[in-house]
Amino acid sequence: MREFTGIPASGGVALGRAFVVAPRELTVERRDIALDEVEAEQMRLERALAVTRDEFASLRDEVKKHEASIRAEILDAYMLVLDDEMLTEKARDMIREDRVSAEYAFKTTLDEMLVVFEAMEDPYFRERAVDLRGVGNRVVMNLLGVAYRLFEDVSDNSILVAHDLPPSDAAALPREKVGAIVTEVGSRTSHTAIIARSMEVPAVVGADGVVGYVRAGDSLVVDGINGRVVVNPTDEVEASYEELGRELLAEEKRRARVAELPATTLDGYRIELSANIELLAELEAVARHGCDGVGLYRTEFLFLHRSDLPSEEEQLDAYRKVAEASFPHSCIIRTIDIGGDKFLSFPEVAREINPFLGLRAIRFCLKRRDIFRTQLRAILRTTAYGKVKIMFPMISDVEELRTAKEILADVKRELEREGRFVDEALEVGIMVEVPSAALSADLLAQECDFFSLGTNDLIQYTLAVDRGNEKIAYLYEPFHPAVLKLIKTTADAAHRNSIWIGICGEMIADPKAAILLLGLSFDEFSASPASVPDIKIALRAARYVDARRVAERAVTMTSASEIRSFLTRELAEMGVPAVRCQW
Ligand code: PEP
Ligand code: MG
Repeated sequence: MREFTGIPASGGVALGRAFVVAPRELTVERRDIALDEVEAEQMRLERALAVTRDEFASLRDEVKKHEASIRAEILDAYMLVLDDEMLTEKARDMIREDRVSAEYAFKTTLDEMLVVFEAMEDPYFRERAVDLRGVGNRVVMNLLGVAYRLFEDVSDNSILVAHDLPPSDAAALPREKVGAIVTEVGSRTSHTAIIARSMEVPAVVGADGVVGYVRAGDSLVVDGINGRVVVNPTDEVEASYEELGRELLAEEKRRARVAELPATTLDGYRIELSANIELLAELEAVARHGCDGVGLYRTEFLFLHRSDLPSEEEQLDAYRKVAEASFPHSCIIRTIDIGGDKFLSFPEVAREINPFLGLRAIRFCLKRRDIFRTQLRAILRTTAYGKVKIMFPMISDVEELRTAKEILADVKRELEREGRFVDEALEVGIMVEVPSAALSADLLAQECDFFSLGTNDLIQYTLAVDRGNEKIAYLYEPFHPAVLKLIKTTADAAHRNSIWIGICGEMIADPKAAILLLGLSFDEFSASPASVPDIKIALRAARYVDARRVAERAVTMTSASEIRSFLTRELAEMGVPAVRCQW
């Protein structure tokens, strides 16, 4: 048994078998073995060598059928590497003498040889180093049992273990087969973690070293509440997690009881409590958790994991489903937020050095107006099917908003000329998620109908902390006084200009934030569907007047820890129940 600790990214516990996704860089952790395991480890090595030899042989035969011999020759050369006694003998010795796993012995020997080969002057040997790395890594992958192509062979009751899992891949996850996700990188607000929460898949991210240690098929426990991953747990540990699983199920039943009730405080302040979604599959959870419609539809997920663009009709079809499912509540359709950590798979969309500060969201749309206009047509046409609002992400100044609105007006005229219905009352809002927008909220409020505060990005841009980087996750602080100042500035500007203000950042899932923002008189909270019941329970246990007093004090405090302890104390006094997953 071995335990890894990471960042709890999506609540719940799961037990299952490891499905390891091939990492870009293979790292293998030392795994000690007992004396009586030596023979079995050596057999594993022989088998992996044989399997790799067979793989290359069939690849070579395949290649020979279709093309001239140069690639086949390379593959022949690869197979010779596998017969290199220097490599294999040393690995066998190491298993026996150092009593380590086959993959550790083989990888260590391989790395040592690579250092020697790569330092050689002779180009012949340097080229052999490339062969050696390719072949050697393949052997290691066969020893670890990692998958080459994502999700192809995933079986039931799997725990997905990966170095990194881009949001586009996470969105394509076969939910019915995957019980939990474990990654080595990422943080609570990375889009992969957000997807996991939306799909209600337990997840631990930032679990350093897990990919190099876990073998495909290992038995795993994933504790998404405390950020723990247990590899090959003992029977007692497994039983304790099964017990925790039963407790969570009972809590889920308690949560289900508030689904039909409104998010109203004890003294009658009503908040719209809606859902953030990425995929149509989440509409079922929106209904199940009793959300007041959809407060953020991240439409970019319709554009990911494919090699073409969705047509206007395809988009209309998806948006219409969201609008109809949200009715009689509204749905806020956000125009695509491509860039940052979500990319189209087109070669012409160049990779950037600093994508979160680059051609992202509205900036991308104002550059690729063809893509933007098609989406605007689809959204405007959706107004015939429900209460639709449109929202632009990452607005950073008034001119950007004006340009986006001009294009919207032009597309609307185009549709009207075609005789299509567009709702005149369509509300146009923006995400306030860049400090410059928060600081010019008074100006922006005069030119749009609503604000939705995107704290996931507002925090990263205010504190200069990459929201997806596990190494600095400890600096990602929603209760930082600077963040609270920007939130208050934005809320005050919205109220002064009589527009409504919501929040769709992840911090709202913490009851401390919910009470604080209730006190700043927010009109709407939008969160992952599974977080909605806990927020509702907190709101229903509080009084608006108390929340106002608490918020007034909190925004004058000097440090995040002071604010946190103050809020924790106040919530306990109010009788707001604590939740398991907090910031
Ligand atoms: C945000 O930034 O808070 C937000 C809700 O948008 P996203 O997480 O999609 O960037
Ligand atoms: Mg954002």
